[in-house]
Formats: sequence, structure tokens, C-alpha cells
Amino acid sequence: MKLQNKVALVTGAGSGIGQTTAERFAMEGAFVIVNDVSERSGLETVERIRESGGKALFLLADVTDAAAVQAMVGEAIKACTRIDILFNNAGISGVGAIHEIEPEAWDRVMSVNVRGVFLPSKYVVPHMMERRAGTIINMSSCVAEIGLARRASYSASKGAVLALTKSMQVDYAKYNIRVNALLPGTIMTPFVEAYLERSYDDPEAAIAAIQKRQLSGQLGKPEDVANAALFLASEESSFMMGSPLYIDGGIVFGKDA
Ligand code: NAD
Repeated sequence: MKLQNKVALVTGAGSGIGQTTAERFAMEGAFVIVNDVSERSGLETVERIRESGGKALFLLADVTDAAAVQAMVGEAIKACTRIDILFNNAGISGVGAIHEIEPEAWDRVMSVNVRGVFLPSKYVVPHMMERRAGTIINMSSCVAEIGLARRASYSASKGAVLALTKSMQVDYAKYNIRVNALLPGTIMTPFVEAYLERSYDDPEAAIAAIQKRQLSGQLGKPEDVANAALFLASEESSFMMGSPLYIDGGIVFGKDA
């Protein structure tokens, strides 16, 4: 059990990568605080964890809402006395080149994906500073590193998360807090399924197009990212600080032609 007696807060844990990671953390002995903006999905994750013998609690909050996030962190501390691991996972997609994006859509992507990392960190970090211990995992994406067509708002948001991760690490290293980022490639989750449906007429062609830009013949699975998150959350990664961890089937560093 790699997270025995740890308390982990996972944002956006009602679906996809967040849900699978919450379940994985619980299997490894953590008490998991499941956050989501959707009560139905968050409660489903808690039920799945409890059915497998794990411990979890659902706390509803929109990660862009400062008062709601502050209240959520207060509730979590009241229930568990501390937060050892913060996984800032909640995020939304954004499709379009700059000239196609409405200002409101741009703001929404930046708000959920960047402010949604800032706020939970802002309210959790003081508790970690007090205890001089903690691990924070921020969800970036391999689009922070590569140019990908019609992802202007999304890649800007994930690039910001990567830069923020490094900056946070410098500020909090002296408090024994580690801050690292995950950079997944294309992972089959409801988020990607919806994007494929919206962007392509033929889903088979869409999957073939995605496979062409990576070295692996498979698309990623939520478990692939959950395993990486577990590594960053555990003592096994104790010498990793401010690092990007790629889980991308070879998108960023591979070129097969
Ligand atoms: P998903 O849509 O399956 O799950 C995201 C969850 O976040 C949902 O349960 C949703 O309700 C929740 N959420 C959305 N807005 C929220 C808010 N304001 N407050 C609280 N919760 C909110 O998506 P996923 O594919 O599991 O993605 C999870 C994270 O991984 C995102 O940050 C995404 O950008 C990132 N990511 C995904 C991929 C991929 O290919 N799936 C690749 C790279 C990065």
C-alpha cells in the first residue's frame, strides 16, 4: 500500500482520469476526498471506492469559485485533519484557432484549467506549509509542449499550468512540498469521446488520425495516467520536484518518419 494513512483531494474526480485515480489512490490506502462540480458523478466515484472497501468522501465545488473552494478545503480539513496529496485534475477542453474562439469560451477554458489549479492550491498550501509536508500534482497536457491544430485556448491553459507548477515548486520547496505536473497525450475518457464526436464525422478516422501523431498503436487509458499520478503522489518520486511527467505514447519525443 503506497498511500497508507494519506489523505488525498482529487478535483474533477467524477469522471475519466480523476475517477480512476481516486479509485487507485483509495486502493493504495488513501482516504480520498472526491471533488466534482457534478454531484451525481462525484457520488458515483465515492460509491465505487466504498464498494471496493476504500474510504472516500464527496465534496461538491466548482474549482473556479473561490468561496466554494475555500469552504471545500475547510470541510476536508475538518473531516480528515489534513490533506497530504492534492491532485488538481479538473479541466475542460477547448477547440478552435484564435480567430474561431469567442472571448467567453476562451475565458471559461482559462478559468477552469488555470484558476481551477490556483484556487485549490491557494487554500490547501497553507495547511501543508504548517505541517511542512505535502505533494501537489497539477494536470497539464502534452499540448503544453507541442503545437496542435485548433487547440489555442486549451494549449495556452495547459502551458500556464506547467509554468505555474515550476513556480509553485520554487516557492514551496522549503516547506517540504513537492509540486509536479502530468502531461498526458490522448487518453480515452468521456472528455475525448465528446471531442471526437464534435470534431470528426467518422470516429474510426478520428482515432486513426490520433494514432498517427504518436508512436504507440494504442490510445492511452485512464489507468495509465492514474499510475503516473500514484507515482508522483508516493514517496517513490521523492526526488522529483517541479517536473513534467509525460504519459503520451510517444507524442512529444517520438518521430517515426
Ligand atoms: P472528463 O471530462 O472525463 O473529467 C473531468 C471531470 O472534471 C468531470 O467529472 C467534470 O465534471 C469535472 N469538472 C469540470 N469542470 C469542473 C469544475 N469547474 N469544478 C470541478 N470539477 C469540474 O475529463 P478527463 O479526460 O478525465 O480529463 C481530466 C483532466 O486531464 C483535465 O484537466 C484534462 O484537461 C486533462 N487531460 C486529459 C487528456 C485526455 O486525453 N483525456 C489529455 C491531457 C490532459
